[in-house]
Amino acid sequence: MSENHSIYVHIPFCKARCGYCAFCSCTDMSLVPDYFGRLSQEMAVYSDRSKPIYTLYIGGGTPSSVPVRYIDGLLRDLDKYFDLSELKETTVECNPESTTRELLDCLTAHGVNRVSFGLQSVNDATLERIGRLHNYADFLAATELARNCGMDNINADLIIGLPESRADFRRSLDRIASLPVTHVSAYALELHEHTALCDRLAGQPPFDDDSMADMYDEALATLREHGFARYEISNFARRGYECLHNLNYWQEGRYFAFGASASGFVDDVRFVNTQDIGQYMSLPIGELRTSTPVSLHEQAEEFVMLGLRLESGVNLDEFARRYGKDLYAFFPHAEKLEKRGCLCSEAGHIRVPADKFYVINSILADLLDDEAD
Ligand code: SF4
Repeated sequence: MSENHSIYVHIPFCKARCGYCAFCSCTDMSLVPDYFGRLSQEMAVYSDRSKPIYTLYIGGGTPSSVPVRYIDGLLRDLDKYFDLSELKETTVECNPESTTRELLDCLTAHGVNRVSFGLQSVNDATLERIGRLHNYADFLAATELARNCGMDNINADLIIGLPESRADFRRSLDRIASLPVTHVSAYALELHEHTALCDRLAGQPPFDDDSMADMYDEALATLREHGFARYEISNFARRGYECLHNLNYWQEGRYFAFGASASGFVDDVRFVNTQDIGQYMSLPIGELRTSTPVSLHEQAEEFVMLGLRLESGVNLDEFARRYGKDLYAFFPHAEKLEKRGCLCSEAGHIRVPADKFYVINSILADLLDDEAD
């Protein structure tokens, strides 16, 4: 079976911690030199030049928060340890306030062709409330700088359900939809225990489920009006600008992964590195990962669970080719769910109808449930 191979690298450093953050992140910049040294060692150990890399994604944390020479060194190492000659897309996550000309020049010199900004809201009071370091003007300046440096494939992250008014959210949507960005990721706010925002809100999300669904609908309609097509539940792109890296993940592709908390999937084995940055830098390289072999049966289930989150759904021929069985034979409940209008098939694909995306989790549970009637 031939799959695309991608690489994810996690850079956990951030200048400050956002109020809602539950990612593997760290504000102690004194660890930067050792962390990048460790990354280099990890990549050397798992170096594999036999598989051309399809996409590369450097995320975090905030990769733009570290001195540019470390990003430069990382990109050089990646080129040394992997075959990047066929790369289709390289993304680097940046925060607006730390995006500099020096960084962008370095990225473009290495062929990075996509930048992803954590915007979250265009409202400065909201940004301050959730502990972001940038304001909207910083974001506009960073996108303009990126475009001036020749980087025109730009994502903006938006959070639905922040502690702000519906009118504030509407303003974010209207502004973002009119900007010269090519991609918008819109995820619902998740309140994680022990985060500053969760404590401040006493664990109560600012909006109930109905309001969240309405705001999601508003996002979908506004982005569509402005030429963005939804291609995955939370991801919208102008034509031809779908994120290839994430598509590879959703299509059960393979990916190497490096850095604290990074998870990958290579040679039918899923692995995840320790989340503890101190451990990541001190354990023997061979002890950083927890690995789990994934059977072909489990891969088929994952392929469908991830693929049904895509607007295009799952390609039936591709499923049969990969897993040696017809999808309807593999999932006995698929036909019944189709009769109920929870799934539909057309043009060789099976997918969740647009008006059922809200209940996709229960549809997937029914599809996989051995007991369901
Ligand atoms: S920028 Fe992202 S990773 Fe860093 S603290 Fe904020 S939410 Fe967490």
